[in-house]
Amino acid sequence: MLLAAWLLWFYLRRFFYGRPYRPVLVLAYHRVLPRARSTLAVAQKDFARQIAYLRRRRYVFMNAEDFYQKHIVSAAPILNKICLITFDDGYRDNLKYALPILRPDNIPATIFVTVNKIGSPEPYYWDFKNQTKFSKDDLPLTWPELRCLQKSGWTIGSHTLNHYELNRLSDQEIKQELRFARKILTEKFGQNNVICYPRGAADARVLGLARAAGYGLGFVTNSCADDWLALPRVGIYAHDNFWRFRLKLFLRRLAPLKKKELAHGAGVIG
Ligand SMILES: [Zn+2]
Repeated sequence: MLLAAWLLWFYLRRFFYGRPYRPVLVLAYHRVLPRARSTLAVAQKDFARQIAYLRRRRYVFMNAEDFYQKHIVSAAPILNKICLITFDDGYRDNLKYALPILRPDNIPATIFVTVNKIGSPEPYYWDFKNQTKFSKDDLPLTWPELRCLQKSGWTIGSHTLNHYELNRLSDQEIKQELRFARKILTEKFGQNNVICYPRGAADARVLGLARAAGYGLGFVTNSCADDWLALPRVGIYAHDNFWRFRLKLFLRRLAPLKKKELAHGAGVIG
């Protein structure tokens, strides 16, 4: 019954909005490896199949900084089905296994890096819970490797300095995490206006401080806030087989459009 109601709404809403309905699709990945050996990793062959599917569905791929400049700063209407492919944390495997899938078709992506971990010989602290042996793929990317990704059309975005859950910190600590990360990334890579909050922890206080720090586009996993600083993403994990992947995309299309998306013409096709 509930499903029937959703489906009815899905097909009828174009009459309410007066146009086909199409929110911006943002996919959130963490790791791409030859074999998905942890929840956060997607097998390379699955990743390739997912990207091929998105291409067949005629998504237009953008990196987050270009999307911000074109559709938020310049307020260009969103005329296409837009897909932003994002990676969190800054793992080396992104360069080794994700880039070779994206580069042949010039598909840009966005990587959110934990700035104080860039180039570290130590794995991320949370990986010690499940792992004792580490390979190079498990380590954070280095500055030259990030430059290589940038040359391939990737945005190097902020995942703060230390990957703390921001909503647990004081205002002063949040400011430091946000401002210094943005400053360092801007010095190294040019413009930096995009952020992904560690563990999606962004309440109204964090969003306000992110805005004050100069960010213009932010990503979370689930969001009720009608704000470009809290754009929801679809997380893709090891257990997402192809059927689940397509279901997740379908459910994202069912989500109500935010006022901000309508104001920018989201959903208008051609
Ligand atoms: Zn993270």
